Amino acid sequence: MRPLSLNPLFAALTSLPGVGPKLEVLYAKLLGREQPRVIDLLLHMPSGTIDRRARPRLNEVLPGQVVTVDVTVLEHRPSPPNRPRAPYRVITGDDTAATLTLTFFHARRDYLEKLLPIGEKRYVSGTAEFYDGNLQMVHPDRVVDEKGFANLPLVEPVYPLTEGLGLGIVRKAMDGALSRLPDLPEWQDEAWVSRERFPPFTEALEQLHRPLEPSHVAPESLAWTRLAFDELLAGQLALALVRAHMRRQAGRGSSSEGHLRAKVMKALPYALTHSQQLAVNDIVNDLALPQRMLRLLQGDVGSGKTVVALIAAASVIEAGRQAAIMAPTEILARQHLATIAPLAEAAGIRVALLTGRDRGGERETILDRLVLGDIDLLIGTHALFQEDVAFHDLALAIVDEQHRFGVHQRLALTNKGEAVDVLVLTATPIPRTLVLTYFGDMDVSELREKPAGRQPIDTRTIPLSRVGEVEDAVGRAVDEGKRAYWVCPLVEESEKIDLAAAEERYADLRRRFGAKVDLVHGKMKSADKDAAMARFAAGKSQLLVATTVIEVGVDVPEATIMVIEHAERFGLAQLHQLRGRVGRGAGKSTCLLLYKAPLGETAKARLAILRETEDGFRIAEEDLKLRGEGDLLGTRQSGLPGFHVARIETHGKYLGAARDDAALVLSRDPNLQDARGQALRHLLYLFGKDEAIKLIRAG
Ligand code: ADP
Ligand code: MG
Repeated sequence: MRPLSLNPLFAALTSLPGVGPKLEVLYAKLLGREQPRVIDLLLHMPSGTIDRRARPRLNEVLPGQVVTVDVTVLEHRPSPPNRPRAPYRVITGDDTAATLTLTFFHARRDYLEKLLPIGEKRYVSGTAEFYDGNLQMVHPDRVVDEKGFANLPLVEPVYPLTEGLGLGIVRKAMDGALSRLPDLPEWQDEAWVSRERFPPFTEALEQLHRPLEPSHVAPESLAWTRLAFDELLAGQLALALVRAHMRRQAGRGSSSEGHLRAKVMKALPYALTHSQQLAVNDIVNDLALPQRMLRLLQGDVGSGKTVVALIAAASVIEAGRQAAIMAPTEILARQHLATIAPLAEAAGIRVALLTGRDRGGERETILDRLVLGDIDLLIGTHALFQEDVAFHDLALAIVDEQHRFGVHQRLALTNKGEAVDVLVLTATPIPRTLVLTYFGDMDVSELREKPAGRQPIDTRTIPLSRVGEVEDAVGRAVDEGKRAYWVCPLVEESEKIDLAAAEERYADLRRRFGAKVDLVHGKMKSADKDAAMARFAAGKSQLLVATTVIEVGVDVPEATIMVIEHAERFGLAQLHQLRGRVGRGAGKSTCLLLYKAPLGETAKARLAILRETEDGFRIAEEDLKLRGEGDLLGTRQSGLPGFHVARIETHGKYLGAARDDAALVLSRDPNLQDARGQALRHLLYLFGKDEAIKLIRAG
């Protein structure tokens, strides 16, 4: 049950004075939640401040600067009766000889006379400019008397807004929200909090929403960092609880002596790289333990994950159990089969393929053999977790390219066996800092080096205006027997136009180079796609025009040229993935990035990174940095996915600490019972991670 003290924070935002149903709709949009609550507003972070602390005398005012001046009202100059649209001016001055004209459009005279009585002193805050040689301020932000000045915040937070929700409205609601903050226990380690000089949670919120200095609302501030760490800890704690829950269900180890693994390795035409060997060791250890394995195998494109997956499968198969490999597309599933089949055959492993295309009798046969245990390793697509797919004894689920699958799909597959071990393969070089957020419940093995004999890829950037020369060069290469990909962008919003562009490019190249040119795109039937890929793999076609369907995992080692049209429209990670389609064999490979000139600074920098390095991890880090600078947009996009407060560039470095802390807490107090445990339950609720509390064993 939610701690009662949190109730005021979980009340609807409409419980705040001044927030009615109309504003609720706008807040729903702003805060990304249908029925926003007080806590959602409190976790809406300021994007900056207005600093009114500059207090110059009138002869020192700099135009364009936000200032707060104290002046005496000298004269009112209402708009002349024949020109009602002319502004109403109020002349003010101080003991310097200078004057400041306050200018109001559409002003009400009685209102201004009350606000600015002649002869009285007023504090006026806003931006002053020179107009006709006179210092003037149009519609000052604030006009207050001595008493009002005592309550005037000289540093005001600014928030990301949405149309219809002005700053003043949000600030007022925020004041209401802050007044609802209850007394909360400290859930962080007390010693650590005092060493880092972090304010308590409620004080941190107050500092951010009522800053005394602009630096208080920087993400680096103690207040923001404290809240970010809270959020990270909540996330890591929730993941750790899920993990503990999954591990508790486990109880079967698949121990093997390694005969079958040895057979597979003997059949390999190469030796495993050092990191492949380490990954295999990690996995074999995990599998032998009577605990559930949850391991991520992270490796750049071409780093050789498939064979590691097969060796993992061989371990459970030797123990008399079954394994499954799930790929996101049919092309990939078939490719896994092609890589694995000869090795499996040599080792005596019975493999089958199941995709959405299999229907009727053939499918029945596969399912029958599967449930009888006559298939050791089933490779397939989403079709694997259809309801009627039943295993004899599934021990290991291998999920390739995890980010394409949702967590529930992963669970659907693991539910097909008892305490199924999970190995996730990902080629997306997720920076270390992010692995924890996406995959925090998993152990990680990394394949960092490429298999021996690979040559670096010569990467060049060329303006699209020179596409003719590129076509010529590609044509010559094709004549020499080389194989090339030509990738056209396919961006969802303009799918039709992009598709047309790809087809046009295809027609163009086809006209020039004839039947050696082939086309594959996402709108094709999967049988046609497969056929086109197969023709290219077999060398029957040599120039494959493609939309990004080839992005993931396709392996044609003979391909040595990659042309990417409109490279500026792709994400860096995506470009890296695409480039990874070449440079897989022994031949020297080239990647040509065609861009539409002129390029902006960021786009230039992004393409330059690709020219500089092939290290996917470095590319991912640089990408993050560049996107961090894109934060000027002020959107939430730069935040960690699923997080409100924590920012990757600033707070990512605390992820490790949050994970360690969560592990430590649960090792001492697995059910969150003691004083800190109880306090941490508050934290989980505040950051919407309370689902995890349900997983705590009763009692
Ligand atoms: P990815 O990690 O992108 O899935 P793959 O598993 O498809 O990579 O492997 C890419 C290519 O490298 C395959 O052709 C595979 O046979 C080959 N390969 C894998 N491991 C090695 C190795 N240790 N030495 C040489 N080639 C290898
Ligand atoms: Mg692969």
